[in-house]
Amino acid sequence: MSFTLHGIPVSGGIAIGRAHLITPVSLDVSHYLVELERVKDEMVRYTAAVQAVQAELRTLHDSLSAAAPGDLGTFIDLHSMILADPMISKEPLRIIEERRCNAEWALIQQMDTLVAQFEEIEDAYLRERQNDITQVVERILKALTGAKSPIESALAKARSQEGEMVVVAHDLSPADMLLFKEHQFAGFVTDVGGPTSHTAILARSLALPAIVALHHAREMIGEDDWLILDGSSGVLIVAPDAPVLEEYRWKRGAMALEKKKLERLRHASATTLDGAEIELHANIELPEDAIVAREAGATGIGLFRTEFLFMNRKELPSEDEQFESYRKVVEAMAGMPVTIRTLDIGADKEAESMAREQTALNPALGLRAIRYCLAEPQIFLAQLRAILRASHYGKVKILLPMIAHAHEVAQAKYFIGMAKEQLDIEGTPYATEVQVGGMIEIPAAALSLGLFVKKLDYLSIGTNDLIQYTLAIDRADDEVAYLYDPLHPAVLGLISQTIRGGAKARVPVAVCGEMAGELRMTRLLLGMGLKQFSMHPANLLAVKQRIVGTELAEAGEHVKRILRAEEPDRLRDLVDALNAC
Ligand code: PEP
Ligand code: MG
Repeated sequence: MSFTLHGIPVSGGIAIGRAHLITPVSLDVSHYLVELERVKDEMVRYTAAVQAVQAELRTLHDSLSAAAPGDLGTFIDLHSMILADPMISKEPLRIIEERRCNAEWALIQQMDTLVAQFEEIEDAYLRERQNDITQVVERILKALTGAKSPIESALAKARSQEGEMVVVAHDLSPADMLLFKEHQFAGFVTDVGGPTSHTAILARSLALPAIVALHHAREMIGEDDWLILDGSSGVLIVAPDAPVLEEYRWKRGAMALEKKKLERLRHASATTLDGAEIELHANIELPEDAIVAREAGATGIGLFRTEFLFMNRKELPSEDEQFESYRKVVEAMAGMPVTIRTLDIGADKEAESMAREQTALNPALGLRAIRYCLAEPQIFLAQLRAILRASHYGKVKILLPMIAHAHEVAQAKYFIGMAKEQLDIEGTPYATEVQVGGMIEIPAAALSLGLFVKKLDYLSIGTNDLIQYTLAIDRADDEVAYLYDPLHPAVLGLISQTIRGGAKARVPVAVCGEMAGELRMTRLLLGMGLKQFSMHPANLLAVKQRIVGTELAEAGEHVKRILRAEEPDRLRDLVDALNAC
């Protein structure tokens, strides 16, 4: 029977395909009897897996810096102790030997026994420790089976199956989304998530229709059910009947045609009706995206989110590997500016290779972005050296994320200076004039702009975080997503103040948050005086079309009224009026 679900639309377009449900890592393992002559080998296999996990935990522990939360070290020690306990390290060997079970099965039997014993304990703290046992068991299973993540399994299914697939998951991490680049799913839906979570941003950059916050979708949809996903309205139709399918296929075709028409603007300049030239740059996550940026007609890279180079891998990328990635982008852009943002890891962007587990209560307010880099100078320095080395091949700009304090800029510059000195000593070439800019995405930075215009060569407004921190709502949390409002007067005030402040100090200002790629915001930002936009390549031509149909002076008059309006309804009416002219 057909039914419809509603969620938050995060990436436009229509996807039609069969559902593929992603289930979290499970403890379902194969159960089989081992032949007598293979029992010893099976025991050796188990011991090797335990040793591998021991080494993994040791590395994790050793890589913790002094600044890491104390709880994290304790937590790793606890897991090492559980692993070393004969109940885990030895008892499964006895089960393999006596019952001839395969190693995974023996381990699961032992885990069930231990968990049952813990269930009996009255002390709530000790009872809770059964979760730690399960986590240790999961690590050993992973070492035994070389288990793939559910996303990797989904990719394998997509590769082996005809027709389009729509992924249905409880949640997807930005790292999961990166794997989507490898294979085009038709789209995805999740139970949780917010409109500017990094997962949603990646969906837009991949031009993948997506809906988040569908709540219990995963329980209501069956594997291989037909789905229509309308990423513009947030509507998901499950098991649609033939006429509805037909209607959406037609809509999808019409949208593709519309997109094709925009291509005629690819080589046109983004000049307003009254002659103001606007720069349209692209946001990218991986080096290969630079090609897509060029194809969309971007005249530079306004934001290279380098943290994505650090995801889905166990080891940090070396300086040389980073250098190659940055150089690839710089060369692809052939002399056009490439703004490389230093590592913005943390909050919803996690990387296994960074070896810190998040224990903070509010990771978005924690050791993220520039804070992380300044706490991990070796990682920061390696990245800065790689960026500077790439600057020899084109026009590179360094962008510092999440600055709020003058000393953060001073310290970052100190490390840039140190990286230059090291390269000088080695005789490694780099461009001497590499501009250093900062992201204005914490309200404190926007409110004390004077501090930063003196110290930085340019500014880039990160509206995603600026909205999150101004309105105190987690951008990835669907329960407060209804409060995420780019048109809140406080947000508009901070953006306009930053653009004006930059112009007054003759420091260029760009917007690289999601607002820059939203058609509804284009004229508003133009009217505030913005001259440089950076967005997903997928949105670039539509924004260009809006720019070439805008009279800047007229937009400026509208914006004055918008900035004076405080009532949400009036403000929205004025924005609609601006877009209608
Ligand atoms: C922003 O916050 O607006 C931004 C561009 O950075 P990110 O989305 O990567 O946090
Ligand atoms: Mg940000």
